[in-house]
Amino acid sequence: MPKFAGDLHTHSLASGHAYSTISEMAGAAAKKGLAYLGLTEHGPNLPSAPHIYYFGNLKVIPPQIQGVNILKGVEANIISPAGELDLPNSLLENLDWVLVGYHPDAGFGGGSVETNTQAMIKAVTNPYVDALVHPGNPIFPVDYEAVVKACAEHGKAIEINNASLTVVRTGSRPNCTRIATLAARYKVKVILSSDAHYADDVGKLDAAYELATSCGIADEQIVNLTVRGIEEFLVSRGKKPRVDSTTPAV
Ligand SMILES: [Zn+2]
Ligand SMILES: [Zn+2]
Repeated sequence: MPKFAGDLHTHSLASGHAYSTISEMAGAAAKKGLAYLGLTEHGPNLPSAPHIYYFGNLKVIPPQIQGVNILKGVEANIISPAGELDLPNSLLENLDWVLVGYHPDAGFGGGSVETNTQAMIKAVTNPYVDALVHPGNPIFPVDYEAVVKACAEHGKAIEINNASLTVVRTGSRPNCTRIATLAARYKVKVILSSDAHYADDVGKLDAAYELATSCGIADEQIVNLTVRGIEEFLVSRGKKPRVDSTTPAV
């Protein structure tokens, strides 16, 4: 597996069912040579997730910790068939990085494939959303081709989640294989993420990379493989890149 430049989907203690501090997560990222770490606590509708105030006060976290650029973000929940999210746009617009996805117990348990697909596409079209996470979760079946095409059309990234292939969301692999194959066909941008809930898991992307390459996804499609890939994607999303991993925290 090549050396990756970032892991853009991780959780700290603040998510309530994760087990490392932000300092420990950043330290693990530094140790693994990552230039970017996405801190993406669960949106407030998930039981145990931080209160909405948490996301409004992320300014107290420095932009770099131990030399690692911190993308202060969220993993927001899709909470209705209309694709509404559990953070208002007024907060999302101030975050560095916005992931969105389905989770059980977050207010919307899912419906028919058609309903799930429509809600997911609506969420993808939210202008503040950057990437769609673990769309292969079998609990929320969707029309994968329609979802991948929507990500391509709106310049959003789609995730291959390493944890979905190893420790959680049992039954995801065939769906992830289908999504990765479609992502290769439609040349959509892809993020490979650990979804770490413990510091040792930061940067664990081997299963996701193996699946991505076996499905024909080119290295150039993988946003978080290189610093340039991450920064070009941030710019494409109208966000400020950090220039490079040696930018001093001021
Ligand atoms: Zn998740
Ligand atoms: Zn997550």
